[in-house]
Amino acid sequence: MKTVLTPRGVRRVLARHPWVWRSDVVDLPPKPGIYPVTGKRETLGWAMVNPLSQISVRVFHFGDTGDPLAALWKNLDQALAYRIGAYRADPEAGLRLAFAEADLLPGLVIDSYARHLVVQAHAAAWEPLLDELARRLQETLKPHSILARHDSPVREKEGLPRYVRPLAGDPPETAVVGEGRIRYQVNLRAGQKTGAFLDQRDNRIFLGREVEGRGYRRGLDVFGYQGLFALQVSPHAESIEVIDSSAAALVAARENAALNRAGNLTFTEANAFDLLRERERAGEEYDLIILDPPAFAARKADREKALRAYKEINLRALKMLRPGGLLATASCSHHVSEADFYEMLSQAAADAHRLVRIRARRGQAWDHPLLLTVPETHYLKFALLEVLA
Ligand code: SAH
Repeated sequence: MKTVLTPRGVRRVLARHPWVWRSDVVDLPPKPGIYPVTGKRETLGWAMVNPLSQISVRVFHFGDTGDPLAALWKNLDQALAYRIGAYRADPEAGLRLAFAEADLLPGLVIDSYARHLVVQAHAAAWEPLLDELARRLQETLKPHSILARHDSPVREKEGLPRYVRPLAGDPPETAVVGEGRIRYQVNLRAGQKTGAFLDQRDNRIFLGREVEGRGYRRGLDVFGYQGLFALQVSPHAESIEVIDSSAAALVAARENAALNRAGNLTFTEANAFDLLRERERAGEEYDLIILDPPAFAARKADREKALRAYKEINLRALKMLRPGGLLATASCSHHVSEADFYEMLSQAAADAHRLVRIRARRGQAWDHPLLLTVPETHYLKFALLEVLA
């Protein structure tokens, strides 16, 4: 049984993109599984295939192989080898051990929170391999526990059941992770994504260092989730207000503030768009604003709308910053390119009549690698901007 691609599908695989859409597939096996992918004749690669999914083909091995499963497990070994030094060096680390297609592990995310692993395997072909996956993770990493967080609605698109179940050990409700100067609690069973946003980890630590000794008065951590940016900067500010629309997020943020004895954080449940508009109208001023919104462009068609939304919040933030103030701003929509992002920021600065210096242009944390030929892997933009005048 094999998967036959259209000429366009063939070109895509030859150009080393692992995803082929259903419209670029001529012939599909009836059941999800691991199959060779071909053009007219020769095998171009091996893939996790799912006839129910829009992304029908997810290649994990380019070229032919006599033992596709061995090739898949080799990709896992390589992903773990890339992170094992950091994993062993710090028992409290929050680390991404597998980043899906960027590690040639289709749809597979494995995050480690102080050596409690959380797995999300959102490609159907993983389902029968989960016990073997857990066995291999135990052998290499000796984690305290492994939990499958298979509760995301995206699984329904793959025709997969939704459940949360331990794959090894006895996963606790929460784990305490160390990140630079702070520690935070992760809700392994119910936190957003796998529990935290590790892609921003290095940016949070970076920002904490950048603000050292500057003595900021007022800060806003907008889209703050469990308060991690706020905690990294809190020793260097008089007060930081964490804003999120989710009450559960702010409960977690309060607990994390207590864990770090950060008495200068306040918490406001609000829609960020409304809150920024009201604060700007009221003439409020700040020394530091963090904007870390969710992906506004989930689909390509949403790109323009998303850019307007990004511009709105960045414009309001820039208007409220005092000279010398900092804006840490991010976008995690891969449909908004790095060029789009900086163009949007330039327009916001111009409209706000602010002279703004770029102090840092950054991206996702090192354990979320990028593939040149797979733009989807390159999704997080992070800029640190300083308002000069
Ligand atoms: N900065 C966080 C991650 C933020 S994720 C960190 O470093 O861990 C984005 C957050 O924005 C989520 O917590 C979500 O609840 C919140 N959110 C989404 N839409 C929002 C809105 N319109 N107003 C305020 N918060 C929103």
